[in-house]
Amino acid sequence: MKLKKLEVKTQAQLKKSFKKQLKFLNENFIILLENPYIVLKEAENLGKWLEVDTKIDIENFWQAMWIYEIVNIVLKNWKAQTDRGYTAMFKIFEKDLMALWVDFNLENKYAVDYFESLETLYLSDRKWSITATTKAWIISLLKTRIETQETPQEVSKKIQALDKNIFAPSRAELIATREIWKANEVGWNAVVQQLRDKWAKVEKKWLTVNDDRVEPSHTQNQDDWWIDLNARFSWTGDLIAPANNNPRCRCTVTYNIL
Ligand SMILES: [Zn+2]
Repeated sequence: MKLKKLEVKTQAQLKKSFKKQLKFLNENFIILLENPYIVLKEAENLGKWLEVDTKIDIENFWQAMWIYEIVNIVLKNWKAQTDRGYTAMFKIFEKDLMALWVDFNLENKYAVDYFESLETLYLSDRKWSITATTKAWIISLLKTRIETQETPQEVSKKIQALDKNIFAPSRAELIATREIWKANEVGWNAVVQQLRDKWAKVEKKWLTVNDDRVEPSHTQNQDDWWIDLNARFSWTGDLIAPANNNPRCRCTVTYNIL
């Protein structure tokens, strides 16, 4: 299955990137710790936690850590899967689309809009986003260093140990699986949105995999049965699957034209 292949490819690329970033973090952390002008601030906002009068620009430090590589890997593969999802769903509704004179258009605005919002998601401080978790770890290590006067080398060893929490293969898998799956769903949704634009009445239905690991709220979404295309599923508030309240969600949404 092409979807699975792209997931595996994305996982491999992310794992490689995590390794590189761990190395980068380790090297730069020592420089950061050896600088006597670092002052920690207790602000809630992660972006303002550190006030640094140093040769290292902390914003560039975060950016080098994340933005260019991981986000680009995900966005690139995500775009590929949206197009595939779109093509697959287009075939299913081809007759309806032709009857309504809908153009076959990969650069559809729904997918593009979502694609742009994905970048925001990755750079945000959401609970399970990469940046928030990593920043919190780095900040806590910096604080420990200030309190305990550990040497940069000692702290550096702790960074290596972070591997299990931040740069782990399981994390790469989680990100790859979810984002590629979601891209597929966005591609599907874009096709029926185009039908709706031509006044077709489209319904959707939430589908879980129906095993005992499914979140109760996702089963409740399923119990909504058929709802209008642009209505939110009542229990999670999502417009499409996978659900936002669980990064491991493998639910899907199916469509029907009336
Ligand atoms: Zn689910």
